[in-house]
Amino acid sequence: MAIERTLSIIKPDATNRNLTGKINAKFEDAGLRIVAQKRIKLSMEQAGKFYEVHAARPFYGELCEFMASAPVVVQVLEGEGAIAKNREVMGATNPKDAAAGTIRAEFALSVGENSVHGSDAPETAAQEIAFFFSGLELVG
Ligand code: ADP
Ligand code: MG
Repeated sequence: MAIERTLSIIKPDATNRNLTGKINAKFEDAGLRIVAQKRIKLSMEQAGKFYEVHAARPFYGELCEFMASAPVVVQVLEGEGAIAKNREVMGATNPKDAAAGTIRAEFALSVGENSVHGSDAPETAAQEIAFFFSGLELVG
Protein backbone atom coordinates (compact mmCIF):
# COMPACT_ATOMS: atom_id res chain seq x y z
CA MET A 1 0.00 0.00 0.00
CA ALA A 2 1.17 3.51 -0.76
CA ILE A 3 2.33 6.13 1.71
CA GLU A 4 -0.50 8.66 2.00
CA ARG A 5 -1.22 11.89 3.84
CA THR A 6 -4.55 12.79 5.39
CA LEU A 7 -6.03 15.71 7.30
CA SER A 8 -6.93 15.15 10.95
CA ILE A 9 -8.69 17.62 13.26
CA ILE A 10 -8.97 17.29 17.01
CA LYS A 11 -12.33 18.97 17.63
CA PRO A 12 -13.40 21.45 20.36
CA ASP A 13 -15.01 18.84 22.64
CA ALA A 14 -11.60 17.14 22.86
CA THR A 15 -9.41 20.25 23.21
CA ASN A 16 -11.82 21.45 25.94
CA ARG A 17 -11.26 18.22 27.88
CA ASN A 18 -7.45 18.25 27.44
CA LEU A 19 -7.48 15.08 25.33
CA THR A 20 -5.08 16.02 22.51
CA GLY A 21 -2.22 13.91 23.88
CA LYS A 22 -4.36 10.81 24.46
CA ILE A 23 -5.86 11.10 20.97
CA ASN A 24 -2.52 11.58 19.24
CA ALA A 25 -1.04 8.63 21.15
CA LYS A 26 -3.62 6.45 19.39
CA PHE A 27 -2.61 7.75 15.96
CA GLU A 28 1.10 7.32 16.70
CA ASP A 29 0.58 3.84 18.18
CA ALA A 30 -1.17 2.88 14.92
CA GLY A 31 1.93 3.88 12.94
CA LEU A 32 0.70 7.28 11.73
CA ARG A 33 3.24 10.11 11.84
CA ILE A 34 2.23 13.73 12.53
CA VAL A 35 4.06 15.64 9.78
CA ALA A 36 2.37 19.04 10.32
CA GLN A 37 0.36 20.41 13.23
CA LYS A 38 -1.13 23.63 14.60
CA ARG A 39 -3.68 24.76 17.17
CA ILE A 40 -6.09 27.34 15.79
CA LYS A 41 -9.49 28.86 16.54
CA LEU A 42 -11.78 28.72 13.51
CA SER A 43 -14.17 31.57 12.71
CA MET A 44 -17.76 30.65 11.77
CA GLU A 45 -16.89 31.56 8.20
CA GLN A 46 -13.85 29.26 8.11
CA ALA A 47 -15.79 26.39 9.71
CA GLY A 48 -18.60 26.92 7.19
CA LYS A 49 -16.19 26.81 4.27
CA PHE A 50 -14.40 23.70 5.53
CA TYR A 51 -17.72 21.83 5.95
CA GLU A 52 -19.35 23.33 2.82
CA VAL A 53 -19.99 19.79 1.48
CA HIS A 54 -22.52 19.36 4.34
CA ALA A 55 -24.26 22.73 3.76
CA ALA A 56 -27.59 21.10 2.89
CA ARG A 57 -27.61 18.77 5.91
CA PRO A 58 -29.88 19.66 8.86
CA PHE A 59 -26.95 19.64 11.31
CA TYR A 60 -24.76 22.08 9.29
CA GLY A 61 -25.40 25.17 11.46
CA GLU A 62 -24.87 23.25 14.68
CA LEU A 63 -21.69 21.66 13.26
CA CYS A 64 -20.19 25.03 12.25
CA GLU A 65 -21.03 26.61 15.62
CA PHE A 66 -19.45 23.67 17.41
CA MET A 67 -16.27 23.77 15.29
CA ALA A 68 -15.90 27.52 15.94
CA SER A 69 -16.67 27.25 19.69
CA ALA A 70 -13.13 26.56 20.96
CA PRO A 71 -9.64 25.83 19.58
CA VAL A 72 -9.01 22.85 17.35
CA VAL A 73 -5.76 21.07 16.47
CA VAL A 74 -5.35 20.63 12.71
CA GLN A 75 -2.70 18.15 11.63
CA VAL A 76 -1.47 16.05 8.75
CA LEU A 77 -0.98 12.33 9.36
CA GLU A 78 1.30 10.30 7.12
CA GLY A 79 1.74 6.55 6.70
CA GLU A 80 0.86 3.41 4.77
CA GLY A 81 -2.79 3.73 3.76
CA ALA A 82 -3.09 6.72 6.10
CA ILE A 83 -6.55 7.81 4.92
CA ALA A 84 -8.27 4.52 5.78
CA LYS A 85 -6.06 3.86 8.81
CA ASN A 86 -6.96 7.24 10.32
CA ARG A 87 -10.69 6.52 9.84
CA GLU A 88 -10.23 3.10 11.43
CA VAL A 89 -8.50 4.57 14.51
CA MET A 90 -11.20 7.29 14.72
CA GLY A 91 -14.15 4.85 14.67
CA ALA A 92 -17.68 5.37 13.32
CA THR A 93 -19.19 8.88 13.20
CA ASN A 94 -21.72 8.03 15.94
CA PRO A 95 -19.85 6.87 19.05
CA LYS A 96 -22.69 4.40 19.71
CA ASP A 97 -21.60 2.55 16.56
CA ALA A 98 -17.84 2.95 17.05
CA ALA A 99 -15.76 -0.18 17.66
CA ALA A 100 -14.18 -0.67 21.09
CA GLY A 101 -10.78 0.97 21.44
CA THR A 102 -11.41 3.62 18.77
CA ILE A 103 -11.07 7.32 19.59
CA ARG A 104 -14.78 7.99 19.17
CA ALA A 105 -15.79 4.97 21.29
CA GLU A 106 -13.53 6.15 24.09
CA PHE A 107 -13.84 9.92 23.94
CA ALA A 108 -16.75 11.21 21.79
CA LEU A 109 -19.68 12.84 23.57
CA SER A 110 -22.27 12.49 20.78
CA VAL A 111 -22.65 12.09 17.00
CA GLY A 112 -21.92 15.82 16.63
CA GLU A 113 -19.29 16.30 19.32
CA ASN A 114 -17.25 13.33 18.21
CA SER A 115 -13.70 14.46 19.00
CA VAL A 116 -12.01 14.04 15.60
CA HIS A 117 -12.31 14.70 11.88
CA GLY A 118 -10.52 12.67 9.19
CA SER A 119 -10.48 13.01 5.40
CA ASP A 120 -12.48 10.31 3.62
CA ALA A 121 -10.68 9.90 0.23
CA PRO A 122 -7.46 10.91 -1.58
CA GLU A 123 -9.11 13.91 -3.32
CA THR A 124 -10.65 15.29 -0.12
CA ALA A 125 -7.40 14.67 1.80
CA ALA A 126 -5.45 16.78 -0.72
CA GLN A 127 -8.09 19.55 -0.64
CA GLU A 128 -8.37 19.56 3.15
CA ILE A 129 -4.59 19.59 3.70
CA ALA A 130 -4.30 22.55 1.32
CA PHE A 131 -7.15 24.33 3.19
CA PHE A 132 -4.98 24.55 6.34
CA PHE A 133 -1.33 24.10 5.34
CA SER A 134 1.12 25.45 2.79
CA GLY A 135 3.70 23.06 1.33
CA LEU A 136 6.38 24.69 3.51
CA GLU A 137 4.49 23.69 6.67
CA LEU A 138 4.60 19.96 5.83
CA VAL A 139 7.84 19.17 7.56
CA GLY A 140 7.81 15.36 7.66
P1 ADP B 1 -17.33 11.82 9.57
O1 ADP B 1 -16.78 12.94 10.44
O2 ADP B 1 -17.31 10.49 10.29
O3 ADP B 1 -16.69 11.77 8.20
P2 ADP B 1 -19.65 13.05 8.27
O4 ADP B 1 -18.70 13.52 7.21
O5 ADP B 1 -20.88 12.30 7.84
O6 ADP B 1 -18.89 12.13 9.35
O7 ADP B 1 -20.16 14.29 9.13
C1 ADP B 1 -19.27 15.34 9.45
C2 ADP B 1 -19.48 15.72 10.90
O8 ADP B 1 -20.80 16.27 11.05
C3 ADP B 1 -19.45 14.57 11.90
O9 ADP B 1 -18.14 14.18 12.27
C4 ADP B 1 -20.22 15.15 13.07
O10 ADP B 1 -19.42 16.08 13.82
C5 ADP B 1 -21.31 15.93 12.34
N1 ADP B 1 -22.52 15.11 12.18
C6 ADP B 1 -22.70 14.07 11.33
N2 ADP B 1 -23.94 13.54 11.45
C7 ADP B 1 -24.56 14.27 12.41
C8 ADP B 1 -25.87 14.24 12.99
N3 ADP B 1 -26.78 13.32 12.62
N4 ADP B 1 -26.17 15.14 13.97
C9 ADP B 1 -25.26 16.07 14.35
N5 ADP B 1 -24.00 16.18 13.83
C10 ADP B 1 -23.67 15.28 12.88
MG1 MG C 1 -16.72 13.20 6.68
